[in-house]
Amino acid sequence: MGSSDNALAAQLMQEVGHWVDGALRAPAAGSRFGDVFNPATGQVARRVGYASPAEVDAAVRSAAAAFPGWAATPPLRRARVMFKFKELVEANAELLASLITTEHGKVLSDAMGEVTRGLEVVEFACGIPQLLKGEYSEQVGTGIDMYSIRQPLGVCVGITPFNFPAMVPMWMFPMALACGNSFVLKPSERDPSASLLIARLLKEAGLPDGVFTVVQGDKVAVDALLAHPQVSAVSFVGSTPIARYIHDTAGAAGKRVQALGGAKNHMVVMPDADLDQAVDALIGAAYGSAGERCMAVSVAVAVGGVADALIARLAERVPRIKVADGMDPTAEMGPLVTKTHYEKVKGYVDTGVAEGAKLVVDGRGLKVPGREQGFFLGGCLFDEVKPGMRIYNEEIFGPVLSVVRARDFEEALFLINSHEFGNGTAIFTRDGDAAREFATRVQIGMVGINVPIPVPMAFHSFGGWKASLYGDHHMHGPEGVRFYTRYKAVTQRWPTGIRAGAEFVMPTMK
Ligand code: NAD
Repeated sequence: MGSSDNALAAQLMQEVGHWVDGALRAPAAGSRFGDVFNPATGQVARRVGYASPAEVDAAVRSAAAAFPGWAATPPLRRARVMFKFKELVEANAELLASLITTEHGKVLSDAMGEVTRGLEVVEFACGIPQLLKGEYSEQVGTGIDMYSIRQPLGVCVGITPFNFPAMVPMWMFPMALACGNSFVLKPSERDPSASLLIARLLKEAGLPDGVFTVVQGDKVAVDALLAHPQVSAVSFVGSTPIARYIHDTAGAAGKRVQALGGAKNHMVVMPDADLDQAVDALIGAAYGSAGERCMAVSVAVAVGGVADALIARLAERVPRIKVADGMDPTAEMGPLVTKTHYEKVKGYVDTGVAEGAKLVVDGRGLKVPGREQGFFLGGCLFDEVKPGMRIYNEEIFGPVLSVVRARDFEEALFLINSHEFGNGTAIFTRDGDAAREFATRVQIGMVGINVPIPVPMAFHSFGGWKASLYGDHHMHGPEGVRFYTRYKAVTQRWPTGIRAGAEFVMPTMK
């Protein structure tokens, strides 16, 4: 075992617990537990304790108690904690990435990429003193000035999905904390360990105890958080039905809420596109992370006569993707996260065949030598997929690419705009006019032009439209500052000795 293996072993507990008041908490006696798998071996690696409503209550109370002191800490000092945290994550990036790979399954280099994209939000949050600056108007009336400020909300909650156990929490908490809130994270129960390393590094960076909290769990913990009177805001990322539920439940309880849901991202390939580039883009965007990305391309829309050439090239490339244990440095694609998810994705491939789509590449029989029990599915490619088929309408969230043939640009655009989801999309073309028209008219939150996965940088904001986001705010960037603060307008006049007496009419400035 090398030194990083030792560090990994030390970080991994047999029973994953919570992080409250700046310390690890073992699951309470009598807790319910869930299994956490190593998806590459198919074995149960450890168990995670599910927080009870009483444990959630204690965690939120601790976060609420820590809030006033942190909110009163100057933004510059809060930023310095973020700077230090950034250094610590960089120093521990490989350890964090290996925790991700051994519980999620994605290849290690991809897990490192996830950590880097999360760190970019931390870097943005380091500029919080500038971002919190308000506006000032002098002399809005005689002797009267006005200014606006943004103040933190209180205890903010993040409920996150399995597919980015470090990056998605990092879309949320760096912004929430830098804005002066305390934060309670409820990570996915399928890959819970990364959250505890993050908590430890935040403490080491100087974050006061109680300002960052982790409660592990399932629906019971989530419902206790949504109902808790001391929770002010809820950020959620996950599947659409749960996003809708979180939005409605938290909203009914009077909380600010942003809830990001599922996706079905289309990539349009125009007849004039550089086909080599388009094929490279599709291979990475459809099969990277085994398709378990909310920005994965799951539908290729082949416009005009491009379909046959596109399918021929994809059919040649897909079976050559190196599928292996994510810790193998030669792996390009790892396993799916759990056996249940594997069965679900495989079931969609069966359904596609039954629905009459043409399965050009079938990855269902794939076996990885030495990892026969792992949850591996080879890349699958469908041609002649049509709206109305379940494999077109629903999110599969696996290494399955559907090709839909469209007559022309208008039909391609119509397909995308008619779909339930609106997370990301892309167009590959050499025609600037077609690209501009596409960006203007497409009903999607994030658009790529010759860029297959247009994930916005941290200083912009991330979010979809339609069933891919419920709420008013996208995540991180300027939208993150707005979501995690409340706006206050102050109008001030200093007494000059002249007393005008009481006024009974609507005040207007003179
Ligand atoms: P999920 O909806 O099953 O779980 C997300 C979170 O909700 C987890 O923390 C889970 O514990 C909790 N949860 C699950 N069921 C619940 C219930 N009935 N009540 C309350 N809480 C519940 O999602 P997942 O399978 O972990 O993640 C994959 C999904 O996330 C995909 O649909 C993917 O598109 C989506 N996703 C979206 C984005 C985005 O930015 N829009 C980003 C990443 C993932």
